[in-house]
Amino acid sequence: MTQDLLLETLKSQNNWLITTHKGPDGDAVGSVVAWAAYAKQLSKDYLIIFPDQPAAYLCPFLEGYHWEVFSLDKAYSGDLLFALDYNAASRVGEQMAVWFEQQTLTKIMLDHHPNPADFVQIPISIPTACSTTEVIYHVLEDLQQLDQIDLAMAKGLYLGLMTDTGSFRFPSVSAYTHRMTAHLLSLGLEQHLIHEAVYDVNSVTRLQLRGYAIAEKLTLYPAQRLGIMSLTKEELKRFAYQKGDTEGLVNVILSIEGYDAGVFLMETEEGVKLSFRSKGKRFVNAFAQANFNGGGHQYAAGGFYAGSLKDALAKLEFLIDQI
Ligand code: 5GP
Ligand code: MN
Repeated sequence: MTQDLLLETLKSQNNWLITTHKGPDGDAVGSVVAWAAYAKQLSKDYLIIFPDQPAAYLCPFLEGYHWEVFSLDKAYSGDLLFALDYNAASRVGEQMAVWFEQQTLTKIMLDHHPNPADFVQIPISIPTACSTTEVIYHVLEDLQQLDQIDLAMAKGLYLGLMTDTGSFRFPSVSAYTHRMTAHLLSLGLEQHLIHEAVYDVNSVTRLQLRGYAIAEKLTLYPAQRLGIMSLTKEELKRFAYQKGDTEGLVNVILSIEGYDAGVFLMETEEGVKLSFRSKGKRFVNAFAQANFNGGGHQYAAGGFYAGSLKDALAKLEFLIDQI
């Protein structure tokens, strides 16, 4: 699709349904906020639909926007269906994926995950982009729409940049990322407020849970330069776990001198959620895909194990030399 056609599609279709992946993170929320703010700029009707409730620390970014959590009982209508920050229908969870596949309206993906599935008519994939909000910025640049970016859009765009780059430190950060950031700041964005809103909202129990995980639940494998950390349902409950409390916790393993891979396992009602992180020459997405029904980026991937935490840990230890 040429840029003219894409712009024509955006301009002529007035009702936008905007979706993102399950367990929305900062880039997911930042992307839907930026895109909804763009819809507002173009005087469109829009609705943001999340597969599940975003973590509390991200909800303030959604104030003033139309958003809801997907419900099977509701009939959604629109002209365009946007898939932001995910590359396969399965990433919105089973129920919503069925709904997504059934929709006959035009579907547009904006994303930066490698190897997108064939699930939309208009896939816009830039795997080298550090965040989906950077993909959005690229698209707006291609469409000569950068002058549409207002402060509200800038907040969403910055939220995605900041959270998906570990505050501008990962190898995915480029000169383009910084030029984009400079543009956002030039619009009057107070970026320190976004850092504070995301990183300075810890509860004491969240810090204690993280401290406990590091002190008591981290096993190091020096030969593999790898650490594995896990938390049971009971432990999460003991520290009054709230969604988002373990976000980024796995990264502390990478900050240990001599270690370049980390795995975090969290027991849930449905099974075990795994988070993989790596750096340097080590990549984790293929391992997550091959062994834990997941995938993601080279340096940040996730997966799921439909069984007990004990069995998930045993499987991981068995395969440890392949990570
Ligand atoms: P996290 O560890 O923060 O949950 O996920 C890290 C990254 O891995 C996400 O940005 C996403 O790209 C990917 N990811 C997480 N869980 C899954 C999953 O179940 N399937 C796939 N394909 N990717 C996942
Ligand atoms: Mn992302």
